[in-house]
Amino acid sequence: MKILESKNLKKYYGSGENLVKALDDVNISVDKGEFVAIVGTSGSGKSTLLHMIGGLDRASEGKVIIDKNDIFNMSDEELTIFRRRNVGFVFQNYNLVSILNVYENIVLPIELDGCKIDDEYVDEIIDILGLTKKVDDLPNNLSGGQQQRVAIARALATKPSIILADEPTGNLDSKTEQDVLGLLKVTSSKFSQTIIMITHNEQIAQMADRIIRIEDGKVVNRGENHVTQ
Ligand code: ADP
Ligand code: MG
Repeated sequence: MKILESKNLKKYYGSGENLVKALDDVNISVDKGEFVAIVGTSGSGKSTLLHMIGGLDRASEGKVIIDKNDIFNMSDEELTIFRRRNVGFVFQNYNLVSILNVYENIVLPIELDGCKIDDEYVDEIIDILGLTKKVDDLPNNLSGGQQQRVAIARALATKPSIILADEPTGNLDSKTEQDVLGLLKVTSSKFSQTIIMITHNEQIAQMADRIIRIEDGKVVNRGENHVTQ
């Protein structure tokens, strides 16, 4: 079942001589539960694509459909709420709140949404990610790998159907990188979540079910079985 689709997606920055076609007619389709890696050189449009499909920014043209919802048809307010409930983001710099402890950071998005915390689920994520003994610690007392695991737990805590990750392990050494990604894979498959992850690391990309390759704002290879153009 298709969970996410971009249709003729374009994002242009600037104009005239300074026009940058960051995304130039991107058509991708991702099935529920898939783990997709997006690879490409620096400046190829990977982050722009992730921002568009996560509704962090609006496209110049084209559509993004998540779970049958045309997200750019929503008002900013509707989109913010939709995003909070359906999409979990993991970025390279963990963006943890330094004055909140690990547990408070993880449940923060749930509280911001005014929802009740599913203790059993949150405890399970904390356990799988190996953070049980760290819940009372402040982020500054954790290693990079631990901080990124907290950021992953936070992204998963609201039970989003899609996890979007932009070079999530880019700041970690390669052993920690593999461990953290392995955990992300285990948790997301356990809870049938879809992952779309940007990386420039081919080895890391190989951990995904499918690799989408992007160059100069265009998809040059979308992996197998997902031709939508
Ligand atoms: P990647 O993540 O693959 O390195 P980006 O999506 O960040 O690439 O950028 C794609 C292109 O769009 C680059 O040429 C970049 O300079 C340009 N770009 C990205 N964001 C902006 C912006 N806010 N304003 C102008 N140009 C931008
Ligand atoms: Mg980028």
